[in-house]
Amino acid sequence: MFDLKDLYQEVIIDHSRRPRHFGKLAGSNREAEGFNPLCGDRLVVELIVEDGLVKDVAFEGVGCAISTASASMMTDMVVGKTEAEAQALFHQFQDLVTRKEPPTADELAAMEKLAALTGVRAFPARVKCATLAWHTLAAALDEQHEAVKTE
Ligand code: ZN
Repeated sequence: MFDLKDLYQEVIIDHSRRPRHFGKLAGSNREAEGFNPLCGDRLVVELIVEDGLVKDVAFEGVGCAISTASASMMTDMVVGKTEAEAQALFHQFQDLVTRKEPPTADELAAMEKLAALTGVRAFPARVKCATLAWHTLAAALDEQHEAVKTE
C-alpha cells in the first residue's frame, strides 16, 4: 500500500477540497469528456479558445482527490497560455510521471504547483487519476469529440 502522507500533500488536499474553475463555462467553444474506468474519475473540460489563446477554462465532474486536484491545478495553469504551451505542459507532465528517471529540480520548478502531483509516479494506477484532466484538456484543444479513456 502507498503512503497517503506522501501522496496527499497539502496543496493536493487544498485543490481537491476547493477546486478552482469548477462548474460550467458560459460561452465555451471547446469541450471534451474524460473517463478513468480504473478509479471511476469522470470529468468534462470546457474551454474558451480565441486567437490560439486559452482565455478561460472550467471543469466539472466527480473523481478522487488526485483527479480533482489535478484538474483544478490544470485550470489554474493553462489560462492565458497559447494552445501550444498548454499542450507542451501536458506532454511535460505526462513525461515526468510516466518515465523511469525521476524529475530533476529544474523540471519540478517548471511544473510549479503541479510538482506536488509528480509523487504519483510511484503509483501507476494513480498516474491515470493525475493525468486524466490533462488528457481531456488535450482532447478539447484538438477538438476531439470522442470521450477520452485512460484504459
Ligand atoms: Zn482517481
